[in-house]
Formats: sequence, C-alpha cells, structure tokens
Amino acid sequence: MSTLIKFDQVSKLYPATSRAGGLTPALRKVSFELPPGEVISLIGESGSGKTTIGKVLLRLARPTSGTVTFGGKDITAYSQRGLRDYYRDVQGVFQDPFSSYNPIYRVDRVYDMVRGSYFPKVSDSEWSGRVEAALDSVALNPGDVLGKYPHQLSGGQQQRLLIARALLLEVKVLVADEIISMLDASTRVDVLNLLVKLKRQGLAILFITHDLSLGNYVSDRTIILRHGAIVEMGATEKIFANPRHEYTRMLLSAVPELHSKWQHSPLGPVAVAAPALALAPALAQASMLDELTHAEQVVKRDLRAVFGGARAVASGKSQVALALEPPQLREYEPDHLVADPE
Ligand code: ADP
Ligand code: MG
Repeated sequence: MSTLIKFDQVSKLYPATSRAGGLTPALRKVSFELPPGEVISLIGESGSGKTTIGKVLLRLARPTSGTVTFGGKDITAYSQRGLRDYYRDVQGVFQDPFSSYNPIYRVDRVYDMVRGSYFPKVSDSEWSGRVEAALDSVALNPGDVLGKYPHQLSGGQQQRLLIARALLLEVKVLVADEIISMLDASTRVDVLNLLVKLKRQGLAILFITHDLSLGNYVSDRTIILRHGAIVEMGATEKIFANPRHEYTRMLLSAVPELHSKWQHSPLGPVAVAAPALALAPALAQASMLDELTHAEQVVKRDLRAVFGGARAVASGKSQVALALEPPQLREYEPDHLVADPE
C-alpha cells in the first residue's frame, strides 16, 4: 500500500526549560511510514517524544531537521489553503478532551465550526443527518450530548464527540494521543473497538500510549521510543512475541514492585530483570512512571551539561549532532527492526 505519512529523519530540539539553558532533544532522527488504514502504536514512557511526534504531524511543532510528507508533499510547505485542506485529512484527539472545548459554548459548536469552515453549502437537514451518523458510529445518542455544555458530559462522551468530529471531516489520519488513559474501563473498550472499526474503514491511526497492552490490542505495527529515538519497530505481533531491545523488554516485563527503584544510567539502557512476556498494566501506575520521569530528568541534566556553558558554544554544533545521533537500527527479521544498545 502506498505511504500516506512519511517521517524522514525528523529531529526536534526544544530549548531546555531550566535556567541552565541548553537544548532538549525531543526527537532524534525519527523515520517511519504510515500507510492508509494502518494503526501504528507509539509507545514509550513519559518524555520519550510521543506527543512531539503527534504535534509535528499536526503541524503544532516544526521539525528542527528532517521532513514529514503527506501523500508525498512536505507538510511544512503548505500555503494557508493547503493547510486548511491538510486539516481536513489529518486531525488529532488528545488526552484531555475537556481542553479541546470552549467551556462557555455548547459542544455542538465544535460541529458548527466544522460546517462553517468546510461544508458551508450543505443544507441544514443534510448536516443534521451527517452529525447523527457520525455520533451513531461513535455510539453516542444525539439527544444525550447535543445541546449540552462540556462539563455536563463524561470524559468518554467528550472523547467520542471529538472522534465523531474527525469522522465528519472524513479524515484520513487520526492522531490519538493517550486518549484512553482517562476513560473508565468499559468506555475504554468502546473507544478501542471504535478505533478498530475505523481502521477497517480505511482510517490510518497514530495511537500514542504508554500502556503496552492497549497498543497490542489495536495496532498493526509498533514503534518503541526512548529518549526521542526509535529503539524497536515492526509488526506488533513480532515485537510482542519476541522483543529484542532491552528497553522494550523492560516495558513488557511485569512490574511487581512498583515502589522499588529503577536502575538507570544517563544515556545507557535502563537495567531490566529477566524478560517476561506478561503485559504490564501496572505500567500505567504513577509511581513507576515517576521513577522513569526521573530517569529522563537525569538524561536532560547530562545533556545540558554537554550543551550548556560558554565553552560548549564553539563546538556546540558538532556536539548537538553527536547528541542527536540515534542508535543504529538493524533488521532482526522482516518487519522487525532493533536498535543497537545506547
Ligand atoms: P511524551 O509525550 O512521550 O511524554 P513529549 O513529546 O511531550 O514526550 O516530550 C519529549 C521531550 O521534549 C520531553 O523532554 C519534554 O520535556 C520536551 N518538550 C516537549 N514539549 C516541549 C516544549 N514545548 N518546550 C520545551 N520542551 C518540551
Ligand atoms: Mg505525551
């Protein structure tokens, strides 16, 4: 199948947020392709660069280097008009659905805006029919949600309203960034099943999650991100059946002691106990993620030490280049790439 979205060696550096200055490499030469109708899970712990990939794809962040193409066209080169068309094809739904609504308006406004921008010529009755069909496919009853204010709806309803909005636009690509995290268990299953259904209808989805079991459930292919670089990538069933990178194994291993310290070295692989294939719903537990976030902080501090200060200025460029260099990916088997240890 032809490629819809292509990331080619995409890097993103952010100015570090601390006073010490320097740069945070949020993405390091990330390359992957998303064909039509495919679901890719993007998995990694907090700070690994998942949202940055979504933002770059939605043009909410500009790559520092590298290119992103949609149907062969560079997405950073669009005119106003081209951009409007792009957003008709590519949309995102984010972790916190409430933030996507203006609380002072009824939720219907989200749909009115779609109509105003993209379908001004569609008649009232036809538009109502389209809205009803979109709500129906996300299992929402129009009477339950239309005319309501965002705070009157559950997180799951808000989430599904946004997915329905994407359906009204008939998007080709959906970025779903941690959309499952804040839903209750039964709504989770509904939304996951909906994504599977949409995929069958040809929608390509970038499914961003820190929860491997969710990724395994919906995706054809999986990308494991660590420190902004891809460490393992390929067919989901191959990665889950035979994780090769130490980091993937760590993510996959059960985490029986949530409060025990994780061993980590700044840019080295995170130490891991024997690989286990049991999925780790416990990964979603905050205490462990806090530890991992701490690991990220250590990495950032070390990189700042490299980038920061007057002496670094002269040789800054080459050091940036060095720090951006991702570990080399090698083919372990067809459709299964594994990075060298870092
Ligand atoms: P994830 O979604 O995997 O948690 P992000 O893509 O949000 O990770 O962030 C990747 C890295 O980039 C983190 O170190 C984060 O602190 C940094 N980062 C993200 N957005 C910004 C920003 N706007 N300014 C500065 N640093 C940022
Ligand atoms: Mg994120």
